[in-house]
Amino acid sequence: MKPNFITEIIDEHNKIGKFSGKVHTRFPPEPNGYLHIGHAKSICLNYGLACQYNGKFNLRFDDTNPCKEEQEYVDSIIEDVSWLEAKWQEPTLYASDYFEQMHEYAVALIKKGKAYVCDLNAEQMRVYRGTLTTPGKESPYRNRSIEENLDLFERMRKGEFPDGAKTLRAKIDMSHPNLNMRDPVMYRILHAAHHRTKDAWCIYPTYDWAHGLEDSVEGITHSICTLEFENHRPLYDWFLAQLQIFHPQQIEFARLNMTYTILSKRKLLELVQSKLVSGWDDPRMPTIAGLRRRGFPAQAIRNFCDEIGVAKFNSTIDIAILEEAVRGLLNKTAQRLMAVLHPLKVVIINYPENQTEELEAINNPEDANMGSRKVPFSRELFIERDDFRENPPKEFFRLGPGREIRLRYAYFIKCVDVVKDSSGEIKELHCTYDPQTRGGNAPDGRKVKSTIHWVSAKQAQSAEIRLYDRLFMKANPDDAPEGFKANINPRSLEIITDCKLEPAIMEAKPRTHYQFERLGYFYIDEKDSIGERLVFNRTISLRDTWAKIEKVLKGRS
Ligand code: ATP
Ligand code: MG
Repeated sequence: MKPNFITEIIDEHNKIGKFSGKVHTRFPPEPNGYLHIGHAKSICLNYGLACQYNGKFNLRFDDTNPCKEEQEYVDSIIEDVSWLEAKWQEPTLYASDYFEQMHEYAVALIKKGKAYVCDLNAEQMRVYRGTLTTPGKESPYRNRSIEENLDLFERMRKGEFPDGAKTLRAKIDMSHPNLNMRDPVMYRILHAAHHRTKDAWCIYPTYDWAHGLEDSVEGITHSICTLEFENHRPLYDWFLAQLQIFHPQQIEFARLNMTYTILSKRKLLELVQSKLVSGWDDPRMPTIAGLRRRGFPAQAIRNFCDEIGVAKFNSTIDIAILEEAVRGLLNKTAQRLMAVLHPLKVVIINYPENQTEELEAINNPEDANMGSRKVPFSRELFIERDDFRENPPKEFFRLGPGREIRLRYAYFIKCVDVVKDSSGEIKELHCTYDPQTRGGNAPDGRKVKSTIHWVSAKQAQSAEIRLYDRLFMKANPDDAPEGFKANINPRSLEIITDCKLEPAIMEAKPRTHYQFERLGYFYIDEKDSIGERLVFNRTISLRDTWAKIEKVLKGRS
């Protein structure tokens, strides 16, 4: 990890012997949705620090709100953190395992006269709370006796009161300039089953009460969170000081924001529920599950997190940086293959019928260790429809009537006839090949202006290919009076059926990343590829076409 303000703080702690040189971090997700790339940043940071300082790293579910939390989310989070290869201390931890302990702490605060049971409802409490410019008003229940508070709190726990009838609040200062210090709620009544503790509890701790305690119980030394929690820190400090228990150091950093991307679980859930995407793992989603399914390697995500680093001030990262991290890695690691998305048949009229030969193709020009493979060549081939023009404009160097080009790894071919159907649509091309040019060069030294990819028809494997583009049309998806859903890119998914792939695809190991030559990086869709049916997701195009589009748009305005 590059040195940053957090490593500076830790270095300083280690110098003065705070925490006896120990570093223990954690990732504390609430299981109320799938993880996204912003969470990946937090995971890489916390786990990275633990690694760098020879420390420990916990995975702890912050499962204190039973209404929004589900086992499905717990399972997905475990899968995602594992996939990112952040290794946490066994066992996996759950805030709900500390409910009893938190309850004891609450009783201790009541006994110290530092917490009270309040009968104000949510609306009244809001009014009593005051504003940034006006002080709050003390609750009429604030001065209940310790005995009465203990009794009422016990009865809250036993389930004697309906939801919302009472709360337990910290007794701090209703005129404190920091609103978080104005007698915040610690417990609320919620008759709801919890995905782990089931019906054991009908009072649940608030985030503000629970979070600092969870870190303290686990002996977390450096409690790293996003900037929104900076002005909650005095409250966490207050709770820990009152209880006189282990006191972690909270450090706030800037959350990840990214162009063309929504990183709010609530909004991502809205996309899922309104079926604007196929699910949390839709390959257009910025979720770890979506990115994985689309073919983003975990290593590329880690490289990206490393590259952007950590900062103390919020900013927005250009999504192109993430995309470049993916291209950069896949260029070095992806297996090359030829695939034709929009097939146009080519008949090599001077090539013997029923003959097939095998040509040598390089698996990755960036990595000689990846070797080569055999590609079958025969009389009937497919090329990309786009690689032929009947009336080629001057700048078009690919195939046209009477023109000669090179088939990658194979021969020069020349188009001698264009065969059309009754509607005038081009059905196939008739070409001749020059046997002297095997491997791609002419002994007489003549040159061709382009090289195109192709697939032998007889051996070709059919597949469905899904092309993705950014899910939102605007760099800031929230920039619309109707809300972010109005900015969805209607062309974010294009499905092409009956694409033709080299037969080598059938020998591939699962989870192989491919570069389909000249087209982009592709990854098999494990969910929808069943039996004979092959589905590929385009992970990313070879070049950033958006950069070009944006340049044009800028030029116009
Ligand atoms: P919510 O609005 O539901 O609280 P959240 O994204 O904060 O959403 P958590 O489950 O609380 O969800 O997040 C777990 C951890 O991930 C927290 O420590 C949080 O600071 C961190 N985190 C969340 N979003 C980002 C982000 N965009 N960039 C960096 N870290 C993030
Ligand atoms: Mg949160």
